[in-house]
Amino acid sequence: MKRRTFFRLGLVTGALTVTRNVFGNTLFEEKSFSGKTGSPVVLSTWIHGMEANRAAWEILNKGGKAVDAVEAGVKITEADITNRSVGVGGRPDRDGHVTLDACIMDEQSRCGSVAFLEGIAHPISVARAIMEKTQHVMLVGDGAKKFALDQGFKTSKTPLPEVKKDWKKWKEENKDLFKKPQINHENHDTIGMIAMDKNGDLSGACTTSGWAYKMHGRVGDSPIIGAGLFVDNEVGAATASGLGEAIIRIAGSHTVVESMRYGFSPQKACEEAVKRILSKHKDLTNVQCCFLAIDKEGNIGAHSVYAGFNYAIKSASENKMVDSTFDRNW
Ligand code: ASP
Repeated sequence: MKRRTFFRLGLVTGALTVTRNVFGNTLFEEKSFSGKTGSPVVLSTWIHGMEANRAAWEILNKGGKAVDAVEAGVKITEADITNRSVGVGGRPDRDGHVTLDACIMDEQSRCGSVAFLEGIAHPISVARAIMEKTQHVMLVGDGAKKFALDQGFKTSKTPLPEVKKDWKKWKEENKDLFKKPQINHENHDTIGMIAMDKNGDLSGACTTSGWAYKMHGRVGDSPIIGAGLFVDNEVGAATASGLGEAIIRIAGSHTVVESMRYGFSPQKACEEAVKRILSKHKDLTNVQCCFLAIDKEGNIGAHSVYAGFNYAIKSASENKMVDSTFDRNW
């Protein structure tokens, strides 16, 4: 059997539930989800997820839609001006600009995204407006801002005075501006939120001011559909936090959801995504990447490269932080 034929046959049968090679061996099997979905639940990255989940839960608990819940939830974090990694209170890039990235995806696989947006308090709502009111998925920079202003979003002045002070100090201490910034607790706390509503529908939202003191113009994984967030209502949803560059390189959240499609549990799917990141990086020093996932039946998983990632969960029976499993200690 020629190698070429082998692949062709593999692809033809790829549309079916079970994909076999020409010898009749199963290559992989798409998991068929039972149709029994979990009860409403919301999951968010990091400690700020507790507050955000509270707002999302108010909507889910009243029978509201997951997409409304995730937008309302992450808006709480965006509105918190003491938060240095999300919203207008975020740290600036190395030139002193606070540039915001966000995306949202709903149960119909509709999505909206905004990147490199300055001076608008709720990038997640701009992303949602792009999803609902334009034919596009993503707007960036000045175009995104113009769209936001046309839609009636208000401007906020950034950076906040105390954030500007810190940035000036950082600049002083980092005369070599292209020195690799460290990945640490202060600079990687994006909020990624995924939720299931009472109909079993899934949606997600992700919003960040990105990597502190990044290069001007840098966009990470968070607003990129498939990297920082991915939802497939037949399968599951996933979100990511950590070094966006590494997450983009493996289309992280999409990779997690596709693994669930082919039968992995959310936990195993997150572990596989981390494994793939490990295999693509010769030197992983300080590269923290974290994944959080839920499948259509309400099973949950989370895994990170290094220790320290945690997520908030809220459901009818739980309201707590959970430490994820991880590959290595710092
Ligand atoms: N993923 C975000 C970014 O690379 C930051 C983070 O979540 O830590 O911009």
